[in-house]
Amino acid sequence: MTPCFTLPDRPMAAIDGGSEGFPVGRIFCIGRNYRAHAEEMGMDAREAPFFFTKWAEALVPGGGTVPYPPETQDYQFEAELVLAIGRPGAAVAEAQAPDLIFGYAVGLDMTRRDLQAEARGKSRPWDTAKNFAHSAPLGPIRLAAAAGGVDSAALQLRVNGAVRQNGRIADMIWNCREILAYISRFERLLPGDLVYTGTPAGVGPVRPGDVLDATIEGLPPLRVTIGEKEPPFR
Ligand code: MN
Repeated sequence: MTPCFTLPDRPMAAIDGGSEGFPVGRIFCIGRNYRAHAEEMGMDAREAPFFFTKWAEALVPGGGTVPYPPETQDYQFEAELVLAIGRPGAAVAEAQAPDLIFGYAVGLDMTRRDLQAEARGKSRPWDTAKNFAHSAPLGPIRLAAAAGGVDSAALQLRVNGAVRQNGRIADMIWNCREILAYISRFERLLPGDLVYTGTPAGVGPVRPGDVLDATIEGLPPLRVTIGEKEPPFR
């Protein structure tokens, strides 16, 4: 068949220090993966991992200005370590999981917190809270071989220079191997997939004009400026 119209090319993430881009297929996000954040969300931290998804078009490669989205009064940041998948794998063993990892990056899982709370209260899905345009800023991907020590790195998120999140990757409830083993039980992981691995405590709201700086030791930083509020779609 010939397509009756053409779709845009895949969104592409930057690769640190190279001219090639990383075409993005799907975005998986792990929820409540740091004890203190699970507790600040009012949840018990000792449950099995879970994930939700964002479409690839939510990607904001390299950061920059991100509009304040419509239909929320409580737009929040979640700074996270992101895994870029470079090899396919289904039901992978934890010991083999690192073979799937192409590289690592700093990401922001931007969230309409008010809609998430409403969805949770009504036992509804999180799509309007999590999966929307510009909700997945991502810094350049550093190749796994060049990102040694990321498993014990410090993660920090600053808003206008003030530290709001100060965590350690080692404090994840489910580590990178466990996350990939878990997701790949349900869905075959493919080259181009991204996995946002969850956020530490300290999440909070942003306003137009705020500057977010997310850093993880050993990885390229990510800076996002919150733009003006988008008017409701019509
Ligand atoms: Mn998150």
